[in-house]
Amino acid sequence: MTEPILQIENLHKTFSVKTGFGKTAHAVAVDGVDLTVGKGEVVGLVGESGCGKSTLGRLALGLLSPTSGRVLFGSQDITSIGKKALRSLRKDMQIIFQDPFASLNPRMRVRDIVTEPLVIHKLAGQRDQEQHAASLLEKVGLNADALARYPHEFSGGQRQRIGIARALASRPSFIVADEPVSALDVSVQAQIINLLGDLQQEMGLSFLFIAHDLNVVRYFSDRVAVMYLGRIVELAPADEIYSRPSHPYTEALLADIPVADPTMKKKHILLKGDIPSPTQIPQGCRFHTRCIHRFEPCDKVAPKITDLGNGHFVECHLRG
Ligand code: SF4
Repeated sequence: MTEPILQIENLHKTFSVKTGFGKTAHAVAVDGVDLTVGKGEVVGLVGESGCGKSTLGRLALGLLSPTSGRVLFGSQDITSIGKKALRSLRKDMQIIFQDPFASLNPRMRVRDIVTEPLVIHKLAGQRDQEQHAASLLEKVGLNADALARYPHEFSGGQRQRIGIARALASRPSFIVADEPVSALDVSVQAQIINLLGDLQQEMGLSFLFIAHDLNVVRYFSDRVAVMYLGRIVELAPADEIYSRPSHPYTEALLADIPVADPTMKKKHILLKGDIPSPTQIPQGCRFHTRCIHRFEPCDKVAPKITDLGNGHFVECHLRG
């Protein structure tokens, strides 16, 4: 891995949630996560809805404050710097949202949407902003005549391209892409992933690429982290995680990926039941309530992280 641009250290985030009858419970969204993203590296972060991956993405950008732990961007701890310093850092860290319909203000023209980060961070004069916006649209595959139009005049894929142009406007070095293709038609998903891959190469960007499907991050990520109920249960170089998955949850997610060749046999390891509530994290291994391989210690003792070598880490008693 290259020099780190982002280092997440023992990060925890707990929310208070109302459970009715005036009672509250603690929902553990992120539970002791360590993760590093190198300069120019793409780390895929994969897990089911409710596993805490979007919360981790927002913590990584300083959009949420952690309950404990640290996030270093470069050498700066964004969990302890003041609001002004964090605002200034934000031009280097951007987000692409999941929903291209909700994330663009319908009352703003594309020109104003794309140049908004330039205005907020005072990065260019009026004329330069217009030129910069036109060149950004070109970069994401849209014509400059889109500048005068409104979001509702575009398809989902085109809106996501506008969202990407906005994220690139302040020339960031790190981007959190929070399920950027999951709201799009399958036919458009590949186009947007290819576009992000091209931009990443061209601009040397670092990405935390969040998805609920291992297939989506397959060709775009250098490393993949698999998250379950607030913890990263497996982390490995991308080719390694697809060829040698070592956590039963990763195996189950991989078994869920559609196979293009119908003659190819696929191991079906179905996930049992739903992901437990983050207000009731199971004791021992948090995956034991759904794991087809669970054995004696799994419901009592939480597994430790095992280093399998070659940058491959897993949290499972089978590998300990
Ligand atoms: Fe399954 Fe046990 Fe491994 Fe957890 S520790 S994933 S329950 S085998």
